[in-house]
Amino acid sequence: MTRLHRLAVSSALLLQSLAFASSEPCLNGLCHFTRNKLASRTVASELGPQLSKNCNVYGPDDTQFGNCTARYDPFFTPKIQMVVQPATEDDVPKIVEYASANGIPFLAMARRHGMTSTLSEFDGMQIDMSLLDKIEIQPDGKSAILGGGVFAKNIMEKLWDAGYVTSSGSTSCVGLLGPALGGGRGRLEGYYGVVSDSFLKLNVVLANGTAITVSETEHPDLFWAMKGAGHNFGVVTSLEMKIYPRGVDTWYYKTYIWTQDKLEAVFEASNAFHNDGNHAGHHLKEMAFNMGSYTMIPSISETEGVIFWSFVYRGSKEEAQPYLDAFDAIEAVSTEDGNVPYPEIPGVSGTGMSSALCDYGLNHVHYPAGLKVWNVTTQRQIYDLYNEKIREYPEFQRTTVNMEDYSHEGVDAIDPDTSAYPWRDRGLLSFIAVTYDPNPALDEAAIAWAKETRDLWNAGAPDLLPSTYVNYAHGDESAESMYGYEPWRLEKLRGLKAQYDPDNLFSYYNPIIPNMNPRSTHESNFQGRQIGAKSRSRGQ
Ligand SMILES: Cc1cc2nc3c(=O)[nH]c(=O)nc-3n(C[C@H](O)[C@H](O)[C@H](O)COP(=O)(O)OP(=O)(O)OC[C@H]3O[C@@H](n4cnc5c(N)ncnc54)[C@H](O)[C@@H]3O)c2cc1C
Repeated sequence: MTRLHRLAVSSALLLQSLAFASSEPCLNGLCHFTRNKLASRTVASELGPQLSKNCNVYGPDDTQFGNCTARYDPFFTPKIQMVVQPATEDDVPKIVEYASANGIPFLAMARRHGMTSTLSEFDGMQIDMSLLDKIEIQPDGKSAILGGGVFAKNIMEKLWDAGYVTSSGSTSCVGLLGPALGGGRGRLEGYYGVVSDSFLKLNVVLANGTAITVSETEHPDLFWAMKGAGHNFGVVTSLEMKIYPRGVDTWYYKTYIWTQDKLEAVFEASNAFHNDGNHAGHHLKEMAFNMGSYTMIPSISETEGVIFWSFVYRGSKEEAQPYLDAFDAIEAVSTEDGNVPYPEIPGVSGTGMSSALCDYGLNHVHYPAGLKVWNVTTQRQIYDLYNEKIREYPEFQRTTVNMEDYSHEGVDAIDPDTSAYPWRDRGLLSFIAVTYDPNPALDEAAIAWAKETRDLWNAGAPDLLPSTYVNYAHGDESAESMYGYEPWRLEKLRGLKAQYDPDNLFSYYNPIIPNMNPRSTHESNFQGRQIGAKSRSRGQ
């Protein structure tokens, strides 16, 4: 661990810095070269004295480096030269200004679950937000101030214990802002919309290090953009989010495991349950979320996938039962149910901290599709393909094909034009995650299978334009499929890029304007900055 307050700016280090960087620091932002290959100790010596005392800078030789950079999905890996951990919000503008002025690409990260291919174009400084983890409920009980590094588990637990809930992703181990800046899908969206619909105010550091507050009344256009395309615009150091009375003491859950011969019955029941995509009056907000997967459970079958499904209901078993009768009528291999407090719902529905879903270190080659209704014929084709591939590649045994069905009342209640999140009409979210121990020899087969599955979903919904939930994107999808096909959406976003990030420095997470600068190097980064300028004029 490198404690900055222990560092002295010694002349020896400065000399070393110049040797590495071949130039003076260019803190006025007019730098025409990059110092991206600076040693972390040089950064610590130059930047450290400006930062608060509990900040850390780690280079590859530090023992903490591995912990800070380990990724959920190593398939697409950003190249991290150094990790800087701000300890206070005030540190972030200084870090961004330093990185920006020195031509060092930077990327904020919280829980490192980002899984898009565009991240592998990154080569630079990771700004590790994990120390910014405050959760402060405001005295009026209507909002909370949350740090830029908080994640689902600690928000759910802290608010619940105080009598509240707020929207977050459904998986305990995942950050809040990673999902929320792309909209954010979660169990409370039937009540409160997608996660970003509960934003009140964001404290954002722009590419040049300027700290601004963004809300309905301050920089309202940027506020609009942060709710769906936010990864493209700034580092969020903290936010104020609406919170809500927790309502009930326990939620009811029920999980089913069915064999494949029940597949058609399951998807027909599911379509009836959400009224063929017309949720109004059918898919109650209390019946918050159900999701299923094709998965291998060897104790049931070593050769055929099973259908796992989980329902959660905000209320009692008796209230939930009428909605579950149709599923109870389909004979299951096993079922499990119970009542637990909301923070325990992830644990009982396969998305908790200790679930396989939260294991770090496996490849998850994925592609998503947003849908309105299950095409039962397609679901069968995808299932058959699943079995075929598992037989061909036993290494892919941990693969899951995932189907998520969200309650929609809260999402529908919000005018789609009021945020950059474009997919309010897609209640169903599906994705495949071809899962295996990292092994380059299998990558091509994994990508081909994942793509074929996504293409089957889209072919089975010919009346819908293919949509990509930005946080589930593989990374090679079109900007339109992520940010919306209505031309005004991308025009508006690109205009805002020109205004707030003219050099396209926030361009590593499914960028609105492509990053033209794969794996930045000392030489190529300068070109990248020029290309950023060209993109700006293209986007205007
Ligand atoms: C197991 C699993 C479960 C998931 N479940 C859900 C779910 O229920 N709902 C859902 O909507 N999505 C879900 N996702 C997708 C998820 O939204 C993305 O993977 C997201 O990028 C993860 O955020 P993170 O903080 O964990 O990852 P990180 O890799 O740390 O962050 C991802 C990106 O978010 C941006 N970012 C993070 N923090 C900040 C910040 N403070 N300021 C500015 N930018 C920031 C950066 O661009 C960063 O590259 C899930 C993903 C996985 C792997």
